[in-house]
Amino acid sequence: MATRILLAEDEALIGRMVELNLCAEGFAVDWVLDGEAARQRALGERFDLLLLDLGLPGRSGFSVAKSLRDAEVTVPILMLTARSDPASKVRGLDAGADDYLTKPFEMAELLARVRALVRRSQGVRHLPSASRLQLGRCEVNLETREATTQVGKVQLSEKETRLLRLFARHRGQTLSRQDILDEVWGLEKDPTERTVDNVIVRLRRYFEANPSVPEHIESVRGEGYRFVA
Ligand code: CA
Repeated sequence: MATRILLAEDEALIGRMVELNLCAEGFAVDWVLDGEAARQRALGERFDLLLLDLGLPGRSGFSVAKSLRDAEVTVPILMLTARSDPASKVRGLDAGADDYLTKPFEMAELLARVRALVRRSQGVRHLPSASRLQLGRCEVNLETREATTQVGKVQLSEKETRLLRLFARHRGQTLSRQDILDEVWGLEKDPTERTVDNVIVRLRRYFEANPSVPEHIESVRGEGYRFVA
């Protein structure tokens, strides 16, 4: 079944560009032009993602997001806005958006964020009970973040746990540092690819019998990392 995206954007040129690019990526796109229509559609149908412009006629993006969250609609929301001030970013997240992109944006960045949000939500749906992760003789409880490691019992950080979840969903696949940044750090602007490497070093110390010859978290030269368990 195609991944369904609801696009709420009143600017025809932007809406058309986004729709074309999402369709080219294989997404099924429903495009609405005002806030109230977006709210009604998202309340009544199941979408995998809502791409929500902040400045919409009828009802603002803030109001749409808030109203959907109040109604316990859990669709991931990526908010689009021309406003770059931090206050509206915080307000958007408070209203229930999962991620935030400021116009003008690069289409490649939009697509990367869309893919990340869709993967994250589908991963959660497909693996509801996968709360335990086994790495050789080590084990992680992904809910409580408690881990039995090579160096004893450890309480993992939220980022370490998110990265392990991501690996668990993509066993055997190579993930680039940018993929990992998109999924684990999302909105945060400061982290660099170096940040990813630092977390990997810690995880290897916890879970590899010999961290310099990793068996679970492999390096793929020039590409990124691959999880094998
Ligand atoms: Ca607008």
